[in-house]
Amino acid sequence: MKKYRANTTVIAVDPDHPDERDIQSAAHVLRAGGLVAFPTETVYGLGANALDETAVGRIFAAKGRPFDDPLIVHIAAKTQVEDVARAIPDIAYTLAEKFWPGPLTLVLKKHPRVADKVSTGLDTVAVRMPNHRVPLDLIRAAGVPVAAPSANLFTRPSPTSAAHVADDLSGRVDIILDGGPCPIGLESTVLNLTGPKPAILRPGGTTVEALLDCLPDLILPGEPAGARTSPGMMLKHYSPKARFFLFTGARETLAPQVREVIGGLLRAELKVGVMAADEDLPFFAGLPILMESLGPQSDLDAIGRALFAKMRSLDARGVDIILMRAIQAGGLGLAISDRLIKAAHQQVIDLDGQPDAIINRLISELSG
Ligand code: AMP
Ligand code: MG
Repeated sequence: MKKYRANTTVIAVDPDHPDERDIQSAAHVLRAGGLVAFPTETVYGLGANALDETAVGRIFAAKGRPFDDPLIVHIAAKTQVEDVARAIPDIAYTLAEKFWPGPLTLVLKKHPRVADKVSTGLDTVAVRMPNHRVPLDLIRAAGVPVAAPSANLFTRPSPTSAAHVADDLSGRVDIILDGGPCPIGLESTVLNLTGPKPAILRPGGTTVEALLDCLPDLILPGEPAGARTSPGMMLKHYSPKARFFLFTGARETLAPQVREVIGGLLRAELKVGVMAADEDLPFFAGLPILMESLGPQSDLDAIGRALFAKMRSLDARGVDIILMRAIQAGGLGLAISDRLIKAAHQQVIDLDGQPDAIINRLISELSG
């Protein structure tokens, strides 16, 4: 696939009161078929006119995204859903009323006017209205719905700041609107409303608990009837460059185990990074490793906000391996765990096992 080439301009905007002239120039680029990256409350998006096949094709080219991974269409008003979807069920309006603007994406029947590339040829379309002034103003000014996946290179952690976007896509996007860090830092929840029962295809910023209030027959991720996951939900995803290892283990015995495993990695001359909740920081005290704290264990909002940024920060510091302890899956923890397990290539290591065996396994995987 040929890369999309562009002279990237970064424009700083106030996230709450973006300057109308900046919005107009970005809207002009969108209308002309170019690419604009912008902040949302979840992560930064890489936007193109959703009605323009050529423009949408550029998103895939810029990201190196496979052509079977469909994009989310962003709208600026609840009623705009009718421009991009058809045969919309009543429950979609109920959910939009309750959760839009916000981190909930609804999969609906696609309106033929939306570019086929957006949905990679499927007859459905994913739609959401972001809860962020910059994309709302931009979409309104452009006068078209905007297809936008996360503004990262394929498989890299999603970008939660304009600097992350520039690191991945400089020279491949026309404008980056820098509106500061994203307040949620995790992608939206994707909910399919085109099957026999509503089903979560991807956990995200809107919690299952909140959705169950409106959708008592909701099919959760991993449930048999929900096994038809989204296209594009490949298992390896959201990965830092360093090998990411997720571990569990009984809290009482964890500290010596963790220290022994890290000791083994250091002896093998590996540069070790750790991401940890504040409560776990003492496990690592005094070790010559690179630490990133995520905030208190109970503050899932803070952990969600920090997650991708900390992965990128450890990558930038050149670590070979990143260790992190698995977190509880309630509330936003479900979305956080989903991203961690994908970053860890679906493996969770139980540190109650034999430290020597674990060290050997980690080292052999790293050299393999
Ligand atoms: P991203 O925008 O990079 O966070 O990814 C969007 C994700 O939404 C895709 O990877 C799909 O899993 C999901 N998605 C988008 N469109 C559809 C659709 N028409 N049907 C099912 N899932 C979709
Ligand atoms: Mg993505």
